[in-house]
Amino acid sequence: MTEPAVQLENAKRSFGSTAALDDLSLDIPQGDVLSLVGPSGCGKSTLLRVISGVERLDSGHVFLNGRPVDGDGFIEPEARGVGFMFQDYALFPHLSVRDNVLFGLKKRKRADATARAQDLLGRLGIAHLAGRFPHALSGGEQQRVALARALAPEPGIILMDEPFSNLDQGLRQRVRDETLSVLRASGTTVIMVTHDPQEALSAGNRVVLMRKGSIVQAGTPYDLYDRPVDAYAAAFFSALNAVPGFIRGGRVETRVGTFAAPSGLTREGKTTVFIRPDAIHVTTVPGDVQARIRQRVFLGTTENVVLEVEGLDQPLTVATPTRLPVDADMVFFSVLPRKVLIF
Ligand code: ATP
Repeated sequence: MTEPAVQLENAKRSFGSTAALDDLSLDIPQGDVLSLVGPSGCGKSTLLRVISGVERLDSGHVFLNGRPVDGDGFIEPEARGVGFMFQDYALFPHLSVRDNVLFGLKKRKRADATARAQDLLGRLGIAHLAGRFPHALSGGEQQRVALARALAPEPGIILMDEPFSNLDQGLRQRVRDETLSVLRASGTTVIMVTHDPQEALSAGNRVVLMRKGSIVQAGTPYDLYDRPVDAYAAAFFSALNAVPGFIRGGRVETRVGTFAAPSGLTREGKTTVFIRPDAIHVTTVPGDVQARIRQRVFLGTTENVVLEVEGLDQPLTVATPTRLPVDADMVFFSVLPRKVLIF
């Protein structure tokens, strides 16, 4: 069996009393594109820095392609075969685009290195910028130069710390799609830190959610969105409606419907049911539960509608693709049972 590209075993790294990595273990298979998400200060950058070797562990182990690089001896960052692409791109201002890319290819014959640099610039659509200097490039162009420079030595693993965060929305999506398709085609293992839950779900084939130096949940984007392990994980990826409920005989009764209780939940008593805004179907056709519209925000493909429901203290937020009449006041809604989250 192939070794995982990256393996962390009981990794610990503290700064004073802050555990940036708190006994964290994680395997990342070859060729994975992994999105690393979590609130500010949860240890995402520290995790990247430990994998790259610019930060050392207090205890635990790091393996890259099965080779110990921290814990049992220490391998210097330059000898790890890991590429980086950081938020500020850190291009060398005094070097042309071509020379920035050639920087990581010093060990190759000049002609070889130049051909490789030219090929990458071409694939990233910036061959015509080879002679320019970084200050004369747009943010998106600089980002692609940084990517070309990181890819040039053909690292098996690439680490990206919020690589698209300073691009505006339209450019961000295009550059991200281009970047990830180049990386996927080359079979590179990618670990990308992002603050943006939507970016995490759309960019990676795996998502790791962290909190306070630990992993809360790791899985496919569908696992994290559809089967979050707790309310914190659920709330990270969308707004969440919390509705009081009562567990009785394997069912949870609420004001907005009765749902099957998860198999482990056998006790009788109060609970909270969590409902994502897209799990509520709203219509003007009389049926199910009635509600009054308090507020609407039209977003194009969907509309956010805030509903007041008799018997509920908190209003419900609904994200609906249904185009309700502009003068609608009373509506009816039903909750999709398979999308209800009960922990
Ligand atoms: P952000 O999303 O804000 O970049 P992060 O999840 O990447 O945050 P880290 O940068 O890994 O978080 O930091 C984790 C914790 O360790 C934070 O509490 C941070 O203040 C602390 N920390 C990180 N590096 C150092 C350092 N060199 N000295 C002291 N504390 C540090």
